[in-house]
Amino acid sequence: MSIRILSPEVASRIAAGEVVERPASAVKELVENSLDAGADEIRVEVQEGGRRLLRVVDNGQGIPTGEAALAFERHATSKLRSADDLEHIATLGFRGEALASIASVAQVTLLTRHVDEAVGSQLRVEGGQLRSQESKGAPPGTVVSVENLFYNVPARLKFLRQPATEAGRIVETVQRFALAFPERRFSLVSDGRLVFQSTGSGRLHDVLVKVWGLDVGRQLVAVGDVEAEGEPPTHLEALRVSGYTGLPTLSRSNRNHILFFLNHRTIQDRSLAFAVSEAYRNRLMVGRYPVAVLMIDLDPALVDVNVHPAKAEVRFREERAVFRAVQKAVHATLVEHAPVPELRPEGLSWSMPGWAERREILLAAGQNLQPSLALPREQSTVNSQQWSVDMAGSSQELPQRSEPVTASFQPDAMDNGTPTRASADSDTNLPISQSTPAFPILRVVGQMGATYIVAEGPDGMYLVDQHAAHERILFEQMLGQQVGGGVAQQALLEPLAFEAGNSHAGLLAEYAEALAAAGFGLEPFGGDTWLVRAVPAVYGRVDPRRALEETLEGIADGRDLVGESKEAALVAVICKRAAIKGGHMLGLDEMRQLVRQLEACQSPGSCPHGRPTMLVLSRMQLEKEFGRRG
Ligand code: ADP
Ligand code: MG
Repeated sequence: MSIRILSPEVASRIAAGEVVERPASAVKELVENSLDAGADEIRVEVQEGGRRLLRVVDNGQGIPTGEAALAFERHATSKLRSADDLEHIATLGFRGEALASIASVAQVTLLTRHVDEAVGSQLRVEGGQLRSQESKGAPPGTVVSVENLFYNVPARLKFLRQPATEAGRIVETVQRFALAFPERRFSLVSDGRLVFQSTGSGRLHDVLVKVWGLDVGRQLVAVGDVEAEGEPPTHLEALRVSGYTGLPTLSRSNRNHILFFLNHRTIQDRSLAFAVSEAYRNRLMVGRYPVAVLMIDLDPALVDVNVHPAKAEVRFREERAVFRAVQKAVHATLVEHAPVPELRPEGLSWSMPGWAERREILLAAGQNLQPSLALPREQSTVNSQQWSVDMAGSSQELPQRSEPVTASFQPDAMDNGTPTRASADSDTNLPISQSTPAFPILRVVGQMGATYIVAEGPDGMYLVDQHAAHERILFEQMLGQQVGGGVAQQALLEPLAFEAGNSHAGLLAEYAEALAAAGFGLEPFGGDTWLVRAVPAVYGRVDPRRALEETLEGIADGRDLVGESKEAALVAVICKRAAIKGGHMLGLDEMRQLVRQLEACQSPGSCPHGRPTMLVLSRMQLEKEFGRRG
């Protein structure tokens, strides 16, 4: 193939792909323009999740008639003059690409009137071509209407999710702007319904309440204006961290509720999110994350915002100083408002409320619902002496006894978190399976770090990750139930009215069938409200609202969605959340039960997400390490 220069049309569609990935990204660009134009009242309207129409109306300074057509040219911007300006960007836009990109993949109408002019002008651009321009009366400000986004890029259209899901992302986008600019008023109308509006009062807390509700609002405390004191470089004097952070009573199952704004620009930064969750160490349970909205103000010269097409990521010149300042600010706030109640050994959650009950239900759910999975098909028992003898030989030669094994899991044996039964002699009842060659026969020895089960097998020492193992067990059980007769549910005594947040409403609709197949009993109840009548049995006594919320968060997060079908993917999400976590003490009987159930799995070696369930230290390795073998 010979090298050719792409036609401008193709080149601009490729470039558009970087800036405009989905309707929400177009909304982001348009709102940024309105903000840069000084608007303090910005209204966003969308139809069908923005696919049919998205419109941004502002009361900013408008575009002079003579420049309106220029706005659609690539690299046309009023915000940068020279490369030097890139060093201290104070506007949200500067690349001069957004309007050109959007117009190349949609039908765009621009109606604008500059503050100093008496009439406005209206332009129509389709697929990058200017179709018409005329004068038109209008109030000062700008209206950009984008119709049929991606009408000429079928590949992109295919990747769009359901309208409700796309609308959810738009809600999130607009809410982030509202948080970043509390003194400006934002409204969002979706399919004719006002779904979000901020007051423009200038108080961040007011916006937070609008976004997350009063309940969350009450659990957020202001992060003091902590300056980066003691940090030597004087040019960082201007570094400030403010905002709100949650009391430890408020937590979520992922980091999606830790938001950062750098000089009013929403940014993603994993290491900063880590800094915040670190500040909550020992205050939140393992696997729970805080809610926080943090404003970082910094001299623009110390940040490079030009490293990402949609400007979602930035590069700090003094990354560590920023990291420390964020951590310090959050930590100081927590020390003041939520001192750690007592010192506990790290990572142990002895006092997790309801854990004993939950564990009982989880394990019972595994036993009773799928007896064929819960117990190996052929069973025999062996005592510890015979075991050690047989270890040398092949496991096929293990002596057999014919009496059936009864499930020996006894939940009350450790209700206070301490195994009360001495267990040295209970090895005599160790059940083993000879029909699952995929998994060795293990003798549970103990637990390490409340997270790993230490076991002895025919060829060495095994460490089983209790969470990964339990995930695998629940996963296969639930899939088995889906095939035969349906997933075990627990019905609620009273149906629960679940009001899906904007971003979750779309997911609920999209996953309604898969959720039903996974054991959720859901009924639409008008608007974004659903009646929850049942939840999957594996959730035990987890609050049903939280069970559904966590499931939806898991879907939204996407990372845990693995499996061949939507149903299986969802089951993986649920099992991850329902499985025993690391950090929980287990009794010997429980560990045996778990290992036995793992033995019965078809793919015992990994969790549904592909992480290993166990590690082996072979006898050979041990002998080598101890110098017993040359
Ligand atoms: P950039 O924002 O990077 O400059 P855009 O393609 O988004 O590039 O916009 C091009 C130019 O059009 C802007 O620099 C600005 O002068 C003008 N413009 C776009 N939208 C608006 C608006 N809502 N109000 C006033 N001017 C606007
Ligand atoms: Mg712009």
